[in-house]
Amino acid sequence: MPTTRLYYSDPLLREFSCNVLQCEPSSHNSSSTPVFEVITDVTAFYPNSGGQPSDRGTLDGADVIDVIERDDTVVHITPADVPLGPTTGRIDIERRFDHMQQHSGQHILSAAFARLFGFETVGFHLGDEYVTIDLNTTEISSDQLAAVERLACEVVFQNRRVESKFWDPAALDRTRLRKPTDRTENIRIVEVEDFDLSACGGTHVRATGEVGLIKIVRTERLRNITRVEFVCGRRALADYRLKNSVALASAAALSVHVRQLPEAVDRLLAQGREMHRTIERTNAELDHFRAERMYGTADMLGGSGIRLIKLVSTTEAPDSLKSIAQRITQMPGAVVLFGSTANGTAQLVFARSADVSLDVSKILREVLPEVDGRGGGAPALAQGGGKRPDSLKRAIDMAAESVAHAIQVPAN
Ligand SMILES: [Zn+2]
Repeated sequence: MPTTRLYYSDPLLREFSCNVLQCEPSSHNSSSTPVFEVITDVTAFYPNSGGQPSDRGTLDGADVIDVIERDDTVVHITPADVPLGPTTGRIDIERRFDHMQQHSGQHILSAAFARLFGFETVGFHLGDEYVTIDLNTTEISSDQLAAVERLACEVVFQNRRVESKFWDPAALDRTRLRKPTDRTENIRIVEVEDFDLSACGGTHVRATGEVGLIKIVRTERLRNITRVEFVCGRRALADYRLKNSVALASAAALSVHVRQLPEAVDRLLAQGREMHRTIERTNAELDHFRAERMYGTADMLGGSGIRLIKLVSTTEAPDSLKSIAQRITQMPGAVVLFGSTANGTAQLVFARSADVSLDVSKILREVLPEVDGRGGGAPALAQGGGKRPDSLKRAIDMAAESVAHAIQVPAN
């Protein structure tokens, strides 16, 4: 049973009388809570179709949470049972008007792309967050975008008439349509005065001025198309507000005018990079001095002439310890056993000078079970980590004993 659709002739109708013909439980959207499918003789609710999302509102006081199309019938989805017979439907007109602004804006924008550069619109998405069209091109310059935006806005400023009506297929000159349609009956045409003619079943404004500003937000290349994100009307105002406040806050933080923001950010990034280089240089110098001091004040292992340098740090990052260990072991006759609990785990760095005959990776493997750890490396440098930082000091002490034993007892 075809539903009479009131939105075709009056897209701003907020309230309507109708007869509920059918109300049945539904498994719509496989939602776990039970919902109902309500069919009426007439409706002002727009169903999901042609890229435009469905309306919201109430039917006999019950929330309409979705509206779908089944052949010629409009089906309202409600969480509550609706009694059969006469009642009233109310449309969330704020949401509807937003959809009208975005959808009519899309027709104008698509027509402008087609007119100026021959780009065809092959997709349209109108969501709560984003509105996009897909164009059959992979290259669009910023100059082209500016020209299209300018033309679309001029069409808005001229407040041209927008007429949506059904045409007699025989009377329709299909060559005038921006996009061909395969429909042979019930052809509804949306005409933007002297600018665009498109077959479309959506809800549209009555004059282009109602669309408000049309603003392209960004473009994204996807394989063989370009996706153009844009905003119209109230969404454009909200977008402008957001960007204005973000720009003003950023400019205030950097004590510059909004126009100088890009240079100010570049300057800040360059300063950051320079500071980072300075810190690295300073750290390297500091590591050098610390390595020399630790080497100079280290205890000798008995009469062997080998220096054993131990450290368990709660603040020093393992990378920093590794850097110092490598500097120390560039000098002769040193064995380094470093541990760190700085990141909340047990980290170990063992190293030795080239002239010391000792496999520190073997010693590391011996003590790793103490901290429930894993690791490895080469005879001259090994690293590991474990889950028990509280046992790190004991592991380092055990390693020191192993080193003392290996150095003082000749291998032969
Ligand atoms: Zn349309």
